[in-house]
Amino acid sequence: MAKPVYLDHAATTPVDPVAAKAMEPYYHQVFGNASSVHSFGQAATKAVDGARVVIAKFLNCQPTEVVFTSGATESNNTAIKGTINGFIVSLPHGLGKTIEQLNNRTMKPHIVTTAIEHPSVLESCRALERLGLVEVTYVNPSENGIVRVEDVIGAIKENTVLVSVMYANNEVGTIQPIREIGRVIEQLKNVKTKKLGNKKTMRQLNTGAIYPIFHTDATQAVQFLNCRVDKLGADLLSMSAHKIYGPKGVGVLYIKKGTPITRLVDGGEQEFGWRAGTLNTPAIVGFGKSLEGLGLSHSEPDLASSSDSAGPTLSVAQSPLGGTVLARPPRVSPVGQNLALLRDRMIKEILAKIPDASLNGDSINRLPNNVNIRFNGIDAQTLVMALDQEGIAVSAGSACAAGAPAVSHVITAMLGEQVAKESVRFTIGKHTSDSEITEAVKILEKTVSKMRSFK
Ligand code: PMP
Repeated sequence: MAKPVYLDHAATTPVDPVAAKAMEPYYHQVFGNASSVHSFGQAATKAVDGARVVIAKFLNCQPTEVVFTSGATESNNTAIKGTINGFIVSLPHGLGKTIEQLNNRTMKPHIVTTAIEHPSVLESCRALERLGLVEVTYVNPSENGIVRVEDVIGAIKENTVLVSVMYANNEVGTIQPIREIGRVIEQLKNVKTKKLGNKKTMRQLNTGAIYPIFHTDATQAVQFLNCRVDKLGADLLSMSAHKIYGPKGVGVLYIKKGTPITRLVDGGEQEFGWRAGTLNTPAIVGFGKSLEGLGLSHSEPDLASSSDSAGPTLSVAQSPLGGTVLARPPRVSPVGQNLALLRDRMIKEILAKIPDASLNGDSINRLPNNVNIRFNGIDAQTLVMALDQEGIAVSAGSACAAGAPAVSHVITAMLGEQVAKESVRFTIGKHTSDSEITEAVKILEKTVSKMRSFK
């Protein structure tokens, strides 16, 4: 069999050799605990702080606002559960009264999120709902896999303490209007503060200048889009190293100074008190190196936003579906621009060669690495297994949901369960070659045709 073709980069990426090499000494020579005061510990702290500065520059924030976690799953859990816990502990009248107040609908904190979030966001919200601590609105996307700004903003109520919307979707690659949502939330906070004047009760204060807190899961966006938190208006932002050619098991939660959340992991005072536990120094070093390795110059004024006024990186003529272009393509990083060409070629060829296939998700506002196709009448799980036999690694749904053959909740929310059952995700990476795409499309065409002939 020819060399396998890996088209599942949204699930994980190989570690950049430069990052792997940079990690090496921190297992052996520089193995100290970053919390120790002696020279071994100081050497580890220095390395951790170096990576922290790289990430802070990328986010355009203070290094003290960068908190290392075990990955985006933990970052998302902390953002959501920490916000709700932070709100509850800030309520006046003590804990006894709090329970009573929480049972009173008007007092129960409210979360606005979307139906297409990663399970680590959705299940965190559901866990809080099951405890009776919150009410949650799950905003549905349009058929193109993008949530409308007005739907998210329209769902905000007086008791909304958190709005959590992902920057880019991991299954269909659609880019969400984060900047626009962030901007409106900022305005909303200002209006509320002005209205309240000087006579602020604790509750009014909470629902005024601070709330709703705005969280975005930027895990899939980091590689391609501008993640400057000041531009996005984000109070909290989640990242993960293994999606950007860094090691698995390390992530970041950006926590804007003054954001009233509590920590999820209790214990020591590591990470400015935000997250207890001995730091994973090698992985953190690898995270910093992998981010540097992307060669992003995110200090550029406006690298990416669906609403940027600067020119597009993909021309209308390159649009795989042709026809009317509904929105300006997002501005993506140089890595992304190359991938977008491969992505568009792949989409174009699949749609031209395979009958009854259609693209899921917006063709313009989508990540440059994502191709998600519905093959009418084909069971996606069977197709994934058949392609694997032929050496093509792809997925149906997200890796986190795989194992249990769960149907994509994202495509179900966009287009219904039947379409979800027949959809497969191909995600390309910086090492994917032109010939690999040619090979993958050839095998895909053959496999789909064979499966259809059995019917
Ligand atoms: N959010 C998104 C959008 C993701 O794609 C993933 C990984 N599939 C996660 C969160 C979880 O990240 P991690 O694997 O670092 O826990």
